[in-house]
Amino acid sequence: MPVYLPTLSRRDFLVGAGSAVVGLSVARAGFSAEGEACELAWLSDTHIPSAPDITARDVNMTANLRQVVGELCGLKSPPAAVIINGDCAYLKGLPADYANLADCVAPLQAAGIPLHVTMGNHDDRQPLFEALKAVRPEASPVQSKHVGVIETPYANLFLLDSMYQVDVVTGELGQQQLTWLAKALDARGDKPAVIMGHHNPQFQAPPEGSRWTGLQDTAAFLELLASRKHVRAYVFGHTHNWSISRRDTLHLINLPPVAYVFGAGKPNGWVHARLDTTGMTLTLHTIDKQHPQQGERVELSWS
Ligand SMILES: [Zn+2]
Repeated sequence: MPVYLPTLSRRDFLVGAGSAVVGLSVARAGFSAEGEACELAWLSDTHIPSAPDITARDVNMTANLRQVVGELCGLKSPPAAVIINGDCAYLKGLPADYANLADCVAPLQAAGIPLHVTMGNHDDRQPLFEALKAVRPEASPVQSKHVGVIETPYANLFLLDSMYQVDVVTGELGQQQLTWLAKALDARGDKPAVIMGHHNPQFQAPPEGSRWTGLQDTAAFLELLASRKHVRAYVFGHTHNWSISRRDTLHLINLPPVAYVFGAGKPNGWVHARLDTTGMTLTLHTIDKQHPQQGERVELSWS
């Protein structure tokens, strides 16, 4: 699951199938360089194309990601991990897309910052694994899915794979992954749980003849989360629409895209997540530093 494991060996971080409690791929992210918090950088929807000069909706996606990576490497206190929450590639998850992505994120490796990715509807697992060799899991606990857990001092992050088919908008977790998630959550009831996956929950079925655009197994997924009180948040991308809401006790965190937005005036950028004993502080870093939402901060309590 982790792309880079710079400070400890892969073996130190990864627990292969069969040797962990429920056969998980597990990584650990500790305290950041300064202070007692665990600081993470959350990115989504980078949509990196096959060549750096390709643009879409008047945005150069490669330039945006390069800017963000530069900001991350320049932080006084580097994040303990960076997560790209799906749609890493532009449209079809091409090998050339991931070669460009590997170039864009190379400075993170040089800075010793681990990178993790989840799969979006515009990704393809095999070309990703081939371009970023270290991302290939030793064994996946869920067949044909790219999932894992990041344990931090204050919360555990569960990275899901909601990719249904390459370049098909619909998201699906599937029963096997839900069964794995339930076991993984139950094995880690001692800390708050933060779930990350690319697709948004979709609370209503689409009209007859239309596709689901979010998670088509939203009902089963949310029921699973609701029955486990240590689950505090679901973090997703896909809609390119930065927003935070709440459904009962579950925080719903919709990350902004690093790439283009779908609505005029919406922010693109990344989110700095600071985890401590009381909860999470999320700070929005926009691509356009003049954007009115630059620096917007949200506090979410674990209780
Ligand atoms: Zn996207």
